[in-house]
Amino acid sequence: MTTEEIAKALKLTAQLMELHEVNPFKIKSIANAAYKLDKTDIDLNGKSLEELEQIEGIGKGIASKINELQTTGNLKELNEMVSITPIGVIEMLRIKGIGPKKVRQLWQELEVESIGELLYACNENRLITLKGFGAKTQAEVKKQIEFFQTNIGKFHYASVESFANELVNYLKEKYKTDLVSLTGSIRRKNEIIDSIELLIATDDEIKVDELKNTHQVKIEIFTCSVAEFYKRLIETSNAPECIIEDFKFDSTVRSEKELFELNKLQYIEPELRENSKIIELAKEHKIPKLIELSDLKGILHNHSTYSDGMNTLKEMAVYCKELGYEYLGICDHSQSAFYAEGLKPEKVIEQHKEIDELNKQLFPFKIFKGIESDILNDGSLDYSDDVLKSFDFIVASVHSNLKMNEEKATARLIKAIENPYTTILGHPTGRLLLSRPGYPIDHKKVIDACAANNVIIELNAHPYRLDIDWRWIPYCIEKGVKISINPDAHEKSGYHDMYFGTCVARKGMLTKEMCFNALSLSEIESYFKNRKS
Ligand SMILES: [Zn+2]
Ligand SMILES: [Zn+2]
Repeated sequence: MTTEEIAKALKLTAQLMELHEVNPFKIKSIANAAYKLDKTDIDLNGKSLEELEQIEGIGKGIASKINELQTTGNLKELNEMVSITPIGVIEMLRIKGIGPKKVRQLWQELEVESIGELLYACNENRLITLKGFGAKTQAEVKKQIEFFQTNIGKFHYASVESFANELVNYLKEKYKTDLVSLTGSIRRKNEIIDSIELLIATDDEIKVDELKNTHQVKIEIFTCSVAEFYKRLIETSNAPECIIEDFKFDSTVRSEKELFELNKLQYIEPELRENSKIIELAKEHKIPKLIELSDLKGILHNHSTYSDGMNTLKEMAVYCKELGYEYLGICDHSQSAFYAEGLKPEKVIEQHKEIDELNKQLFPFKIFKGIESDILNDGSLDYSDDVLKSFDFIVASVHSNLKMNEEKATARLIKAIENPYTTILGHPTGRLLLSRPGYPIDHKKVIDACAANNVIIELNAHPYRLDIDWRWIPYCIEKGVKISINPDAHEKSGYHDMYFGTCVARKGMLTKEMCFNALSLSEIESYFKNRKS
């Protein structure tokens, strides 16, 4: 079992214990351990019981549970609770905004045993009769269910990518052909995937059942003849809205590129094949060279143990340098973010001293002094000018009071953008893919304000965020607003999310020239300096 799977099993155990009202003391320690494990990159595989007990946040009891999960693939305690809980009630635990206690009430007092029944109960206003529920909670539960239902069977790209590649390798080996490819939305690297589509040139009939589906994601297999492989690859890769008219085909072509040439079209990278506008550009050979991961020269917007990160500043810097980057921007949370141990002004001074010291040691690599400043409710930044002045750059982000209408959210962002200390607007909508839609903003107004105030927009590269949405990148470019691909890493391994940011940046046709952190160290150093003065 992976650490992630173990964390999930422990989380469910804690939830079900709460649901069945057993031993409140144990619940907390199990829930905390699950939370910790979910956020760590420690590999639990092969660790002995003694080694497990030594991990922070894991005591004797939890260690033996992990051990049981690893050796048997099961947890007796969990199985027993699952067996006495209707499956729909377990599903209800996945609805945001109602914890196990409320789910218990709904189940025991309203006899609601599935998400469908819960939605129906909302429509009949039955929730407001329960203690602790009100019209507001009921409306919120209803909204969450509707969101949940539209997202069922959908996955983050990052969570299925490697599995999809395994399937390609499996088919290549089993059917002894190299003509196997991912196709459809996963080949276009869409941020949300509802099925893995595969194309293979074979005469054999392939049943989806023969693939070991470890992810419960829908799988579709297309087969074709060897001669038609590249034609079918284009047909199945392109989105339905991306149609090449009068498409010419010749069975002698040996690549997709040759087929595009035959049709007098510039090659279109799969990521771009979302609609027919791209075909027009390809006809005129006007598609620019897309950004690549290797174009990125530094990593901005990262957290350390100064706030809510898992690694120390030094560990973050050394690893960044090891990966071959020229600079790191450290942006811990600002003082109002108490839940994330945001930095008080004294802490800022302390961190800056350490950065100066590390910069001597790691030269020519450089750490820039940044902060992720909360955008407060009124749109102001989170420190006095004296403190703001001491940073090389500032990422301004909204983290609290997320329930806003479009007018309020847009005004709040624009006020922050107009603040002369703001360098980068962080995760502009606050969305969490498949779990929270984010506050509504008027994208054009926000991007226009960034253009007017020379503010860069973040493309938060965490696969759950990917915010700003890539569909808005062309408008940013049109307005001359640069994009910074930032992993928002809360531990060293978070840097690798830059890859997912780059995937969607390419979908938005981002070029190296319009990507802020494709600047070299000396370029970005003088940019920050000029901007400060
Ligand atoms: Zn943030
Ligand atoms: Zn952050």
